[in-house]
Amino acid sequence: MILIVAGSLVGASGIILTQIMCKAMNRSLGNVLFSGFGSVSTASETIEGEVRPIEAQDAYYMLEAASCVAVIPGYGMAVAQAQHAVKELQELLEENDCEVIYGIHPVAGRMPGHMNVLLAEADVSYDLLLEMDEINNRMPTVDVAIVIGANDVVNPAARETESSPIYGMPVINVDQARTVFVLKRSMASGFAGVDNPLFFKENTRMLFGDAKESINHVIREFE
Ligand code: NDP
Repeated sequence: MILIVAGSLVGASGIILTQIMCKAMNRSLGNVLFSGFGSVSTASETIEGEVRPIEAQDAYYMLEAASCVAVIPGYGMAVAQAQHAVKELQELLEENDCEVIYGIHPVAGRMPGHMNVLLAEADVSYDLLLEMDEINNRMPTVDVAIVIGANDVVNPAARETESSPIYGMPVINVDQARTVFVLKRSMASGFAGVDNPLFFKENTRMLFGDAKESINHVIREFE
C-alpha cells in the first residue's frame, strides 16, 4: 500500500514537472517526446557575422566599467561547478558599485530548479534571481550580460529564425544587453543540437574555456 501511494506521488510530480517544461519550451508533450529535439543535429541557415574571442583581461576592463551586470547560468555552470566562483565575482562587482542580477530560465540546466539549487548552494541571495520575463524587461539597460554555460535558453533563433527547431521557445534575450560575454569551451551546440547566432552578433564576446577557470581568471584581474 505504502509503495503504491509513494509511486503515485512520484508519478504525479513527474507529470507536473513535465507540464512545466513543455510550457517553458512552448511545445506540446507529443512534440517533445516524438520530434527528436535534443538528439538530432539539424542543418540550419547560414549564420552571418563573426566570432569575437576575448581574454579574461578584456572581460575585466569591461566589467570594471559596468554599472549593471546580468548573469545567465545554464547547464555548463553545473558541469564546471562554477557557482561559488560566480558568487565571488558578484561580490567583487558589488564592491565596485555595480548591480548584479541573475536571469533564470525555467528549463536552464537539466532539471527544473537546477540553477536555483546551485546558486543557493553558493549563498546567492534569492532576491537577485529574476524570472525570464522580468530579466527580459531589464535587458536593454544591462551593461554586460554574462552567459555562463548556457546555450539553448539564450538562443535568439527562437525569436528570429522561423525554420529553427526551437522557434517559438521563450528565451532570455541576452542579445539585447549592451554587451554579452559567453563563457563556454567551444562553439558546440547545446542540448537541442542547434546552432546559436548569438555567438556571431556584433555585441557578443566569447570567453572560451571551462566556466569556472574563466571566472577565476577574471577574479584574479579584479584582485
Ligand atoms: P545547453 O545544453 O543548451 O548548453 C550548455 C552549454 O554548456 C553547452 O553548449 C556547452 O558548450 C557548455 N558547457 C558544458 N560544459 C562546460 C564547462 N565546463 N564550462 C563552460 N561551458 C560548458 O544548456 P541550457 O542550460 O542553455 O539549456 C538547457 C537545455 O536542456 C534546453 O534545451 C532544455 O530544453 C534542455 N532540458 C532541460 C531540462 C530541465 O528540466 N531543465 C530537462 C531536459 C532537457 P561547450 O561544450 O562549448 O562548453
